[in-house]
Amino acid sequence: MKKLYYIDYPQEHLKDQMHRYQCVYCKVETTVINGTLERHLASCQYRKNLETAGYETAVASGENPASHDADDFD
Ligand SMILES: [Zn+2]
Repeated sequence: MKKLYYIDYPQEHLKDQMHRYQCVYCKVETTVINGTLERHLASCQYRKNLETAGYETAVASGENPASHDADDFD
């Protein structure tokens, strides 16, 4: 199970930075997270909740592109 973008996490202003936001839980800036789950810290409660719910981080996908290389040309 995988979402295209993970943007439904709670956010808050950075200290004294009214135009910048960060994850409430792991304090990683939204421009760093960039809609991806794996850029939250591993200890982030939001990330933990989604991983527990069965969502995958992009780097953890088990796709195997080599399996499509069976049709060699002569
Ligand atoms: Zn987070």
